[in-house]
Amino acid sequence: MRKKIVAGNWKMNMNLQDGVALAKELNETLTTEKPNCGVIICTPFIHLATVAQFLNQDVIGLGAENCADKEKGAYTGEVSAEMVKSTGAQYVILGHSERRGYYGETPEILKEKVQLALKNDLKVIFCIGESLEEREADKQNEVVKAELEGSVFNLTAEEFKNIIIAYEPIWAIGTGKTATAEQAEEIHAFIRSVVADKYGAEVADDTTILYGGSCKASNAPELFAKPDIDGGLIGGASLKVADFKGIIDAF
Ligand code: PEP
Repeated sequence: MRKKIVAGNWKMNMNLQDGVALAKELNETLTTEKPNCGVIICTPFIHLATVAQFLNQDVIGLGAENCADKEKGAYTGEVSAEMVKSTGAQYVILGHSERRGYYGETPEILKEKVQLALKNDLKVIFCIGESLEEREADKQNEVVKAELEGSVFNLTAEEFKNIIIAYEPIWAIGTGKTATAEQAEEIHAFIRSVVADKYGAEVADDTTILYGGSCKASNAPELFAKPDIDGGLIGGASLKVADFKGIIDAF
């Protein structure tokens, strides 16, 4: 049975003190009232080591939002997968459209990052999704398939079990526009079929596929009720415990 997950992506928000305070509040809330799904928070690098010290990781997993495409060495300002792992984190988000779009991360670069993350025992939340232009041209299926082929379909089936897919239509991220539950389900089912073609039905059935893009407590129940939507990757609504908890409670 695949895992249902709600994962937060804090992005470049909150200084160390504010981030630690948010993680503590969430930790207390979810330790008292256990969630019905897996919960992960992905934080800026600077929060990881401090948050890892107190986070009840049986209940809340911890992840980074990126890692380097190089193993180690003279890469000023970069943070390697090994460094992320050494903080106590277990996950890393890769392929987010903001990284692809603003920082020029190509399928090849992402392929390297995925390999290094897995080599260092990190599970990968791998983001895929089309732009508004691509959606309007009805190219969304083509786009997400190419993104999987370009960066993760080189993995063995055994390795692929460490991949969580996040389908995030770019036009829905931070815009307040959510894909309808029907639109999201249609493409999630397509993504699962593409995984099945590559790795077989059993692996596809076990693959968690999250929806991301203006997901909030009000629309999460309808989205999460769909058979191929296994939870959400949450940006803006992961920055307040009440909002994030509202989404977690959709399960
Ligand atoms: C995201 O960037 O991963 C995301 C889903 O953002 P938001 O929820 O703010 O749309």
